[in-house]
Amino acid sequence: MGDTRHSKVLIIGSGPAGYTAAVYSARAMLEPVLVQGLQPGGQLTITTEVENWPGDSHVQGPDLMVRMEEHARKMGADIVFDYISSLDLSVRPFVAKADSGTTFTADAVILATGAQAKWLGLPSEEKFKGFGVSACATCDGFFYRGKEVVVIGGGNTAVEEALFLTNFATKVTLIHRRDSLRAEKIMQERLFANPKVEVLWHHTVEEVLGDQGVTGVRAVDVRDGKETVVPCDGFFVAIGHSPASELVKDQLETHSGGYVKVEPGSTRTSIPGVFAAGDLTDHIYRQAVTSAGMGCMAALDAERWLAGIE
Ligand code: FAD
Ligand code: NAP
Repeated sequence: MGDTRHSKVLIIGSGPAGYTAAVYSARAMLEPVLVQGLQPGGQLTITTEVENWPGDSHVQGPDLMVRMEEHARKMGADIVFDYISSLDLSVRPFVAKADSGTTFTADAVILATGAQAKWLGLPSEEKFKGFGVSACATCDGFFYRGKEVVVIGGGNTAVEEALFLTNFATKVTLIHRRDSLRAEKIMQERLFANPKVEVLWHHTVEEVLGDQGVTGVRAVDVRDGKETVVPCDGFFVAIGHSPASELVKDQLETHSGGYVKVEPGSTRTSIPGVFAAGDLTDHIYRQAVTSAGMGCMAALDAERWLAGIE
């Protein structure tokens, strides 16, 4: 049997939303406990340059997240490396069970579990995951030195992944299902100017080809169904992210495919005392700075709610 730890505020997640909530609630003397999850630092730890964090024209994502963690610790937050496997929001105090065996109880909970990469859902994609199929160029790009890769997607992530992969690969083919990208214009300009990049418009990928490893992808033209085989050694899936709401999707109101619903202009969820911040609740902006802003709001909302029940 593991131990039980009680706190006034339990923060689940260690991305910009969680760490900001920790800074604010620690400064409010709420002695928060923050459980980091399997990806301490969150999504920014799998990217390289971040150019839109105010105050830093260039900062490496992992460095920024280390600084946020240090900041939260210095303010007095108790940061725990563990993973919450179940959360009961029907009892008071709320009960969260962690993989280590520890049970965390809390008067208020701030959910900041962010989002996870989406996959195409192809059997061949599953077969080659970790053996030529990846959703993280920063993690796996190095393996494709002098090789050819394909990236699928048309958002900021896909363009960033494609550009990063040009540091290693001899050729990067970006496959997108429409004729225009949704990535920021400045990123698009960099992409189109890079001689190693080729864009295959109006295509989706139906199969990852290979035997021991990946040898190519079978792409299909969405306009006429015509098939094309694009040879490659690696295939990077960058088609967006889904909210990590498994812990609460049956307990809290959600919207737009699993995003936790909050009252407009607040971080209050459908259960009093439970607050949600960051990519877990936001299907529109999904930025580090907006997540941090919501983390701040969640801490302030939790502080006011706790003051009200005391
Ligand atoms: P996340 O960063 O997703 O963090 C979620 C946290 O929850 C993680 O720490 C995880 O371990 C934890 N967690 C999940 N489940 C559990 C659980 N059950 N128990 C405990 N912990 C749990 N945004 C920008 O503004 N600028 C950029 O340049 C930029 N680049 C990006 C590049 C890439 C490749 C990606 C994928 C995203 C990028 N973004 C960028 C978006 C940005 O990273 C996100 O908007 C932001 O990280 C969301 O923060 P968050 O705190 O909501 O959640
Ligand atoms: P996104 O903006 O949702 O884009 C996903 C892309 O994948 C879209 O182009 C979409 O096509 C395509 N797609 C989705 N499902 C597909 C499928 N089944 N098959 C083929 N293509 C598919 O996701 P994202 O790029 O991961 O970005 C997420 C958020 O993080 C955004 O808010 C973004 O701004 C932010 N972010 C910011 C930065 C930065 O500021 N530098 C970097 C990375 C991410 P359609 O266009 O046709 O819908």
